Formats: sequence, C-alpha cells, structure tokens
Amino acid sequence: MRPIYFDNAATSQLDPRVAEGMAPWLLGQFGNPSSLHLFGRQARTAVDQARRQVAELIGATPEEIVFTASGTEANNMALFGILGQEPLVTGHAVTSAIEHPAILRTLAALERRGLQVTRVDPNSEGILAPEAIEAALRPDTRLVSVMAANNVIGTIQPIARIAALVRARGILFHTDAVQAAGKIPLNVEALGVDLLSLSAHKFHGPQGVGALYVRRGVTLDPLIWGGGQERGLRSATENVAGLVGVGRAAEIARTALGPETARLVGLRERLIDGVLETVPGAQLVGHPHQRLPGHACFVLAGLTGDAIRLLLELDQQEIAVASGSACSSNHAAEPSHVLLALGFDAVTARGSLRISLGRFNTAEELDRFLAVFPRTVKALRPVASFPRR
Ligand code: PLP
Repeated sequence: MRPIYFDNAATSQLDPRVAEGMAPWLLGQFGNPSSLHLFGRQARTAVDQARRQVAELIGATPEEIVFTASGTEANNMALFGILGQEPLVTGHAVTSAIEHPAILRTLAALERRGLQVTRVDPNSEGILAPEAIEAALRPDTRLVSVMAANNVIGTIQPIARIAALVRARGILFHTDAVQAAGKIPLNVEALGVDLLSLSAHKFHGPQGVGALYVRRGVTLDPLIWGGGQERGLRSATENVAGLVGVGRAAEIARTALGPETARLVGLRERLIDGVLETVPGAQLVGHPHQRLPGHACFVLAGLTGDAIRLLLELDQQEIAVASGSACSSNHAAEPSHVLLALGFDAVTARGSLRISLGRFNTAEELDRFLAVFPRTVKALRPVASFPRR
C-alpha cells in the first residue's frame, strides 16, 4: 500500500501529463526566450503558449499574465508594486486577518515604511462580510487584498461582491487565489479583480512557478530589476520548463474542473460526515459548504494543542495531513492566526487538523483514513477528556 497524501493544500503531486510536457525542456531542448536564433525562438514559443494557457484558466488575456517564481512572489509583486517601494510609503490598505503570511508579512513590511493597514476579521465561519470590508475603506485607501480561499480552513470568500464594492470607490483590488486557482472556476472579469496571484504547485504543476494577473491599464513598480523580461516587471531569464509546466497544469485543471470538483466535493463530504460521526467532540472549522472542494479542517475536543502529536501518529501509519498550515513546522508552537481570527481560544487555535484531498486521491484511501483516524484519536486522548455519546 502506498502512503496516503492528504496534504494537497501544502503542495500537490506533479501530474504526469505536466511532467511529460516539461520533459523535453529538461532533457535536451533549451534556449533563452530572449535569443533571436532558433533555440531562443522555440523557447519563446513555449513561453507564449504557457501564458495563453494560464490566461485561459482565469479568463484573462495573455498580456495580463506576469510569470513569477512562486505565489509568494506574485503576492509581493502585487503589494509592493502597487503600494510603492519608496522609503516612505503613504496611504492605507485593507486586508483580512486570515491572509497567508505572504500577504500579512508583506503588508507589515510596508507598514514599517509608513503604510497604514486595516485587517478585517471574518465571521465565526471564516467568511468576510463585504460590508465589513467596505466599512474599512478610507479616502486614502489605495489597495484592498482579500484571499479567494483560505489555506487553513478552505473557506471561499465572496470575492465578486467585495471587489465590486471596492472598485466602485476607484480602489484597486487584489486577490491571493493561490489556493483557489485550478480548484474552483475563476474568471477575472466575472470576479472584477485588478490583480490575482496563483501558484502552479497547488494544482498539480511544478513547485517554484507562479503568476500574477495584472488587469490591462494597472501599472506596477517592478520588484526585480534587470534585463526587462516579463514586460520589465520581473526581470530574469525565464524558467522555461517550469512555465511549460504551469501552462499544461492550467490547461488540465481547466478541462477537468467540473468533474474533478464534483468528485472531490463527494469525497470531502464523506470525510466530514465520517469524522463527525466517529470522532466524539470533532468540530468542522470554517463554512460548512462554501469551501474548497477537497478541503476540511477540524478541531478535536480533548486534543486541542496536541494536533502535532496526532499528525505524527498518523504519519507513523503513512498518512500525511497538516496541522494549521504548511508553514506550521516553522511555527509549530504558535496558535494559528486564522483560528484566532475566527474566535477560537489560543489553545484550540494551536490544535487544528487540516485534511486536503487532490486529483490523485481515491475513495479507497478515504476508507482507509476513516478506519484509522477514529482509533488514532482515541488512543491519544486522555480518558474522559471529551464528551461521550
Ligand atoms: N497564498 C496562499 C493562500 C497559500 O496557501 C500559499 C502557499 O501555501 C501561498 C500564498 C504561497 O505560495 P507559494 O508556495 O507558491 O510561494
């Protein structure tokens, strides 16, 4: 039996079809897309195709796609690019309290240079009310950044409604769609966003490849200066194999989206029902339905603060899940800022368990998980620490 990987929100297995597409560019074919000769032209053609494929995934035009080396970099490019890289940053930005550190720490860096930032709390199900974002807007607000879906709890935000309120005031709107892209339908026109970040490795593409959608007419300062690649916004010789990979991953995700979403929602519902039925004191965190297809997050009464032990116990049984977020191994002892923002106390906020399914997970793996999980929790729990049914 192969180990079970239920941590697709951290990273996802490279789709073999993506690997096949990348292989020629790793094994013989090469070229600098800026070169004028045959090798360069072939590389340019491959990059252009990738740009079209990524644009198509989100309903953009290829000219609006800037390739980056990660989702983190795309987020940094959006925030620094709009809010400025001058030593003194003026004005105000709005975000949510549950963003990924790639947003929160970037805004904190800008705050140290003078930017004022408002962080809006979600409700107890992790949803951000558009009215709460609207109430935070000020005459000097320059940018609002709200994630499309949360990486810890999987909740999907009402981005179209938030963007409409923000842009009606002439303020730019960015969404970190790293967890959402390739998993739920995203169309930049229907959403009405000015900037959108995505990352290939979250939808079965290669690690270290991202993209920022920049609406035509929106101008950014570059983060990285140099030879002028990516319209001067992201200088550096392109990672041609990686870009071919994100293009192919985007194409596969776009064509597979409907059936894949339905299958993963089915598995997720069985997972949630199974855990809630068999593990006394288990509670689903986040919105019951408005969540990413394969994503569930639980807190477990009697085991709060001890999710790491549970994770390691499952790891012994070759089942990979996450506690809180992928970044948690760097900050294992810290409570999740996402759970704190939802109103959980600090002990509970240290003890969430994230289970995220992806394209290569099967119903049989879920059966195995549902058989192992309740007895693993039971073995770890101190006697009488949770309500009996
Ligand atoms: N934003 C969100 C919501 C994420 O979940 C992640 C990764 O976990 C990132 C940004 C960072 O993306 P990358 O790993 O490509 O830098």
